[in-house]
Amino acid sequence: MKNAKVRLYVEHPLGAGQSVPLERDQAHYLFGVMRLAVGGFVTLFNGKDGEWRAEVAQAGKRTGVLVCEEQTKPLQLPPDLWLIFAPIKKARTDFIVEKAAEMGAAQIMPVQTDFTNSDRIRQDRLQAHAVEAAEQCGGTFVPKVTDLQKLERLLADWPEDRQLMFCDEGEVGKNALLQSFSESESKATKWAILIGPEGGFSSKEREKLQAHPQSHVVSLGPRILRADTAAVAAMTVWQQTFGDWT
Ligand code: SAM
Repeated sequence: MKNAKVRLYVEHPLGAGQSVPLERDQAHYLFGVMRLAVGGFVTLFNGKDGEWRAEVAQAGKRTGVLVCEEQTKPLQLPPDLWLIFAPIKKARTDFIVEKAAEMGAAQIMPVQTDFTNSDRIRQDRLQAHAVEAAEQCGGTFVPKVTDLQKLERLLADWPEDRQLMFCDEGEVGKNALLQSFSESESKATKWAILIGPEGGFSSKEREKLQAHPQSHVVSLGPRILRADTAAVAAMTVWQQTFGDWT
């Protein structure tokens, strides 16, 4: 029986007959925790070459080698969607990163706004959460989690060809729909969603964002959502309107 129960992200080229040496923690996970052995099978993906079934050729306490046999899924890139959010409490920030990876963000961008409480994040830890989410959800792509940057800076260099779905709590109560679009905006393939911190956006930020040429001010319904809830709600609205769910 060649089916592989375990899915693993590897930073190594994948292809027919390709040998993939395992890192120490990967060997421990496969052979120590999941009790796989030589002759067993693992599903691998690396975010570029699709998903491959690989056979365990060597299995050790701290090392091992897998050999790719057959591609089981082609690479499926997510839409070109950035999820931009202001970090909140650790567990909830982890949640936002995990859901963004599962729901099809191409890039996850923590930003510092006027009312953001935290002034640093553990980018490596958040990136690991995105990898785990991709392993679990069957994705063949892993979104990049960028380092914390100032929202002001990001807006100053905003790319002209990218639309911005600005989730503005000041619009609470209005229709939770992306407003009508011009012909060109409806065809836009590059988008970003912006979610604020627990304290919301400052009035200075809101004015700037409402005046931004690529910004679309959006309500997420009649109640104020927690930032982590808002991230999921906004990605659902966006995916239904523009994304790869339809
Ligand atoms: N402290 C703010 C207040 O009480 O108005 C709430 C901020 S909310 C916890 C965090 C973020 O989620 C907001 O900045 C916004 O981006 C988004 N959000 C929450 N509810 C929303 C809604 N009904 N409409 C639009 N955005 C919303």
